Amino acid sequence: CGIVGYIGKRDVAPLLLEGLQRLEYRGYDSAGLAIQGKPAKGAQSAGLKTAKAKGRVRDLEAKLPKRFAGTTGIAHTRWATHGAPNDVNAHPHLDADGKVAIVHNGIIDNAADLRAKLAADGVELVSDTDSETLAHLIGRSQAPTLEEKVRHALAMVEGTYGIAVLHADFPDRIVVARNGSPVVLGIGEKEMFVASDVAALVSHTRQVVTLDDGEMATLKADDYRTYTTEGSRTSTSPTTVEWEA
Ligand code: GLU
Repeated sequence: CGIVGYIGKRDVAPLLLEGLQRLEYRGYDSAGLAIQGKPAKGAQSAGLKTAKAKGRVRDLEAKLPKRFAGTTGIAHTRWATHGAPNDVNAHPHLDADGKVAIVHNGIIDNAADLRAKLAADGVELVSDTDSETLAHLIGRSQAPTLEEKVRHALAMVEGTYGIAVLHADFPDRIVVARNGSPVVLGIGEKEMFVASDVAALVSHTRQVVTLDDGEMATLKADDYRTYTTEGSRTSTSPTTVEWEA
């Protein structure tokens, strides 16, 4: 249903919650977020932290651990299509190693097939969703870059998606992709936003890039680039959205 993401220098959890609140008007049954934990001095990554809750964004807020510091994260409001609305089925979904977190809007048509194949490979699926398969497919890809891992996973998927992906081993970026479900980048000053709806961005930036179907993007704090799911660069320049505050 709704996606929000942020990478920059600010404390990310309050920004994500605010973004989710701006998407509440669309309706949803549960909400969740994942952040790149703040690394200890000298360490590259502290791993991912998640919180999820059935119900309202304020229910999620109430469940957030006290220490939830980080400056990169993704969040979701879910409108269930596969699996009941509950805490486990809420997004983000993790891979088996807990290194990949994904939020997904849309419907994966071949989810039953993918779930069966993953299970046959010994993967334990913890939710009833179609979306969780994406986290495992990305986590199991042997490709060296996060962009290629996501590309490999998407090549196995039939259906519609707007996704945002975090990986503990690639803490400097968020990778997003679109096919039939909107993804908009918000370009800030040394910070980047992503959302499924400009309503979640406009309080922070009016400079936006709308992805096309079959397009992906990598967001870093001070830079973004767009490319096709086949990997060739696309040229996009931000446009200014008009918005009545
Ligand atoms: N199909 C996914 C699910 O049921 C995503 C639904 C949505 O777009 O919120 O979890």
